[in-house]
Amino acid sequence: MIIKKYSDSVHLEAMELLTRRLPSKHPIYHKIFTEIQTTRAGDYGERIVFRELERMQLPFKYFVFHRVMLRTEKVFEMDVLLLTPYGAIILEIKNITGKLEFQENPSQLIQTRDSGEINNYPCPVIQLTEYKYLLSKFFSKHNFSIPVQGAIVFATRKSFVKTTSSKATILYRNEIHSYLRNLQSHSPILKNSQIDLLKNLILKENSPFSYFPLTKHFFIDVSDIIQGVACPNCGHIGMQKIKKKWYCIQCHLKDSKAHKESLRTYFLLCNKYITNKACREFLQLNSRYEAKRILINSNLIKIGEKKSTKYTMKL
Ligand SMILES: [Zn+2]
Repeated sequence: MIIKKYSDSVHLEAMELLTRRLPSKHPIYHKIFTEIQTTRAGDYGERIVFRELERMQLPFKYFVFHRVMLRTEKVFEMDVLLLTPYGAIILEIKNITGKLEFQENPSQLIQTRDSGEINNYPCPVIQLTEYKYLLSKFFSKHNFSIPVQGAIVFATRKSFVKTTSSKATILYRNEIHSYLRNLQSHSPILKNSQIDLLKNLILKENSPFSYFPLTKHFFIDVSDIIQGVACPNCGHIGMQKIKKKWYCIQCHLKDSKAHKESLRTYFLLCNKYITNKACREFLQLNSRYEAKRILINSNLIKIGEKKSTKYTMKL
């Protein structure tokens, strides 16, 4: 049963917003641009693997979650998590095409593209081992002792694994079903009621907004972020508030709600909290009453009173 459906990553959305609000000469611009490409390819891989999981029927109770972010010693995000009577299963999905070689000592994944271009990536085996460790830690922190297994899944047949690793299970997408069915060769460890408890724990502890604000994640100075309301039509940043509407000098759009997306951008990029002053600066408003009206009507959580009032986004 699918508990948490496939969803595009907020991280990707936030990185795209970030590139629009950073000067293209900014030292980190190129790095973010490259990360966007990698994340897009990764999202595509996750989407097609998840479709496979949605079609799947297993002869035991199971729950599937897409993209779960948990916190123990550090924050970690799993592509797919399954809860089964045989324990928890992490699937790390890779959408890296070409000829692939897993190397050890030092661990890395070498990709040779059809064009002959060679790239190396951090080894997914190391990543999976780390996530298995962190998930076990997470469960023990919550007083559960649960076996954690996992596999690396290549999303497409365009990935040709030439040299594999003895340290992890590596699957193609079409092998997931039999891999999971084979769990039955062991005795079940968890009762159905325990799987339900774990499901609720995961849903409660999943914190997808741990990456944010992105300026913190990428060590960018908040003052480098271009301020102003972005035009939903042409992307121009710096719409002007004229009477009750935002006006774009570039495409002449008039829109009364244009600030909404920019407020979300503020939370994803700049700060978890917004004050009246920060709102006036970011949306380029002159009136504190106008800023207050916007903050009150934006479905935010209000914290504090009077001068120390601040607002945060509902998750
Ligand atoms: Zn415009």
